[in-house]
Amino acid sequence: MAGKNTAIRDSVRGIMGPDPHLIKNLAYIGGRWVAAQGEKTFSVLNPVDLAVLADVPDMGKADVHAAIDAAAQAFASWSALSPVERADILEKWSSLIAQKAQDLALLMTYEQGKPLSEAQGEATAAAATIRWCAEEGRRLYGEFIEGHRPGTNIVVSRRPAGVCGAITPWNFPVGMITRKVGPALAAGCTVVLKPAEATPLCALALAALAEEAGIPPGVLNIVTSANAAEIGEVLTSDPRVRKISFTGSTAVGRKLMAQAARNIQKVSLELGGNAPFIVFPSADLEKAVSGAIASKFRNAGQTCICANRIYIHTDVYAPFIEMFLNKIKELKVGPGWEPDVAIGPLIDKEAAQKVEKLVADASAKGAKILCGGKRHALGGSFFEPTLIENVQDDAPIAREEIFGPVAVIYSFETEDEVVARANATEYGLASYIYTQDLAQAWRVSGSLDYGMVALNEPLLATDLAPFGGIKTSGIGREGGRYGLLEYTDLKYRLFG
Ligand code: ADP
Repeated sequence: MAGKNTAIRDSVRGIMGPDPHLIKNLAYIGGRWVAAQGEKTFSVLNPVDLAVLADVPDMGKADVHAAIDAAAQAFASWSALSPVERADILEKWSSLIAQKAQDLALLMTYEQGKPLSEAQGEATAAAATIRWCAEEGRRLYGEFIEGHRPGTNIVVSRRPAGVCGAITPWNFPVGMITRKVGPALAAGCTVVLKPAEATPLCALALAALAEEAGIPPGVLNIVTSANAAEIGEVLTSDPRVRKISFTGSTAVGRKLMAQAARNIQKVSLELGGNAPFIVFPSADLEKAVSGAIASKFRNAGQTCICANRIYIHTDVYAPFIEMFLNKIKELKVGPGWEPDVAIGPLIDKEAAQKVEKLVADASAKGAKILCGGKRHALGGSFFEPTLIENVQDDAPIAREEIFGPVAVIYSFETEDEVVARANATEYGLASYIYTQDLAQAWRVSGSLDYGMVALNEPLLATDLAPFGGIKTSGIGREGGRYGLLEYTDLKYRLFG
């Protein structure tokens, strides 16, 4: 891999320990490591200091067409394997991801900025996702039904949807890929994936492990590009692509859904959220406080299920704030590879500016900043862990995804009031309730207009359960049996 950034790539290799082959600066199409046909590249930056980690291919139309060609060709043989044969290969991939979890985690921390411990958790979970999908792929059972006329029989089976286009964000640069590619491949589909331009190296490292695991050429293709709209346009206009799976902003999801309408492609969309985190008087306050820390500050607040609005009952408001504030002040900010760091940098300068603007707006309208509230002394895109109160329900910081380490607390008095306020949003992804009152837990979890409700637990993403939202938070689910079914079509056969 000679090239102008050899020295820089060598320094990245330095962090990779014994396995430099996971650092790739070429895209992966049809089982080959390739440059862009136009030979353009773009730089991948470390968000801590904007050092260039590598240059990767800046691909366009012709490259995506080549990737779709490869995926369409591979579909015939991959879908014809038995689920057990596919599972064997996917299990090898899972084992390799598990073995290399430490290397993947380092790469993730360097490329995306999250603390190393979180990156390790993500890499390990990614291996588990692939294993779960491999196992579940064996259970794509159909159904036999006695027919509607004497002597007729009905057979309903699941078929792989076909070539899938996947577009992933940067906040979980490994996990967002495995939760799409795992079920797709297990169901017998092939994939053309465009990772976020901020984090292509993690995607390419996963492809290197897929290659090593024996996933056949063309089954998984990675197209790197700084021109997302062009790639999305091709993926949604080629009639051979039968399914689009996207995680990202609601604005882009809306566009892709409209584009996918042209060929009636199936769509799965995981979009924005505005999660309420509600603490009732009976809650175990210690648990609620540490839950709020975990939910709000993971990945520096850059997740679509982060607690975006924290509602505390007036009876426990003062003690909650005191305990929460103390814990927030303990959060160490710094480069994710340093020991004990809890908050890394935001992904880029624009992200920090957006958070700064939301805080400034809230503050101008009378909000009280209890700690933090500004860029961190480390500079760059680091932002101080922040706690704010006295925010109006209609302020932008209450309506939009904050996507930064800023916790906003609201007080409430009655259950009906807080449920109405929690539901007063266009979003419907994750929600959280802390209560020890069982009847209240059932009542409120039933009334929240969200795809997911967590009770006395801050981390709800798991391979076992259907992750996803309602309203403008998206359509379709990832995880569990349901996630796999998204990559299949039903076929009904009538036997006379
Ligand atoms: P975020 O704010 O998390 O970056 P985006 O929705 O902008 O969310 O990005 C998520 C993914 O969607 C990234 O891979 C990005 O490159 C891609 N993307 C952005 N705009 C488009 C578009 N017009 N068509 C297809 N993909 C897009």
